[in-house]
Amino acid sequence: MDTYDLIVVGGGSGGLASAQRAADYGQRVLLFEAGRLGGTCVNVGCVPKKVMWSAAQLAHALHDAPAYGFELSVGTHDWPALRQGRDAYVERLNGIYARNLARRNVEWRATHARLVAPGEVVDATGARFRAAHVLIATGGRPRLPEVPGAALGLTSDGFFELAARPDRIAIVGSGYIAVELAGVLRGLGAEVQLFARFDRILRNFEGLLAEHLAGHMREDGIEIVFNARPAGLQHSAGALELQTEDGRRFGGLDALIWAIGRDPNVADLGLAELGIAQGPAGHIAVDAFQSTSLPGHYAVGDVTGQAELTPVAIAAGRRLADRLFGGAADRRLDYALIPSVVFSHPPLGTIGLTEQEARTQHGDAAVKV
Ligand code: FAD
Repeated sequence: MDTYDLIVVGGGSGGLASAQRAADYGQRVLLFEAGRLGGTCVNVGCVPKKVMWSAAQLAHALHDAPAYGFELSVGTHDWPALRQGRDAYVERLNGIYARNLARRNVEWRATHARLVAPGEVVDATGARFRAAHVLIATGGRPRLPEVPGAALGLTSDGFFELAARPDRIAIVGSGYIAVELAGVLRGLGAEVQLFARFDRILRNFEGLLAEHLAGHMREDGIEIVFNARPAGLQHSAGALELQTEDGRRFGGLDALIWAIGRDPNVADLGLAELGIAQGPAGHIAVDAFQSTSLPGHYAVGDVTGQAELTPVAIAAGRRLADRLFGGAADRRLDYALIPSVVFSHPPLGTIGLTEQEARTQHGDAAVKV
């Protein structure tokens, strides 16, 4: 059986960062990635999203330009051309990641991996590999609701496969991914309805910012439907129709995107068999040093459910390698005060407590707005 210093399961933001840092310390590293190198962020997340956001941002600028004295005549928008350029860019990144691994002598196996015993991993062909340290960085995937017809809708993964811009689209969800996709599609000319479960969008962000952004979105022509809990999706009169729990029906849709959250990729990893503890939603439980409940086994990134962002996964992965192989025994990621951005139109940026959290933690008298 081949033996390594570190086996990494998952070649996304966290796994790649950790594997490469360990290799920089001279370790023998094996990385399993079943899909495209770069994971969610590079292939169906941050990177292609920001290309789409830039296109929508340009559309806003073109719209505003005459008011600033520019004489322009703008034709129609070519979605397939945008998609082709975006996908080519992502493919170039996939190649760069593969070359970066090769340059550092990180061995990459393009197959699914499963933990079978402490320190032992089996690939899809049944070959076994061993390492003193095993890192799980398998990320997450979009969640579908458990309602009839859910499969008729897309997820954010499907958004990036759209061959043409849908004319009328519904987005179900109110987190940052829902808000961002709504902004992109509206910016590029679609009629967009956003369905929020409660009475506001971006519930994890500062309320005042979310409220202002909702105003901007409405001014841009996005219809926001509050207190809308999906009950089903069906074909009706040649289009899609969304039903909500309170009996409302929203028809005439060319497409619908579910953006209601993400689940950790933990199926068929062998976690339960090895006794690796998981949280209530399946995320791998880790301590402050990214260690799981099984000695020698670690997890970073979205699969741990903590601040699900690429720079967070990268930082946690690198620090883990520093700790295990770089002699920095106390090195770990501090999860407090992580800044984050919503790529809406206009974009939002936040760091630290929301006003409500500050009031709860420190009392009204200590908070000035
Ligand atoms: P991933 O990047 O998901 O990588 C996990 C990898 O593991 C995958 O490639 C998967 O194929 C592989 N894998 C899973 N199971 C196995 C197995 N058993 N064997 C082998 N391989 C396996 N974050 C930001 O910071 N900024 C943004 O602007 C941003 N925008 C986003 C937009 C969208 C639409 C989405 C969906 C996400 C966005 N994110 C953004 C979040 C970001 O993509 C994730 O936080 C980040 O990718 C997490 O990295 P990770 O390494 O934990 O997992």
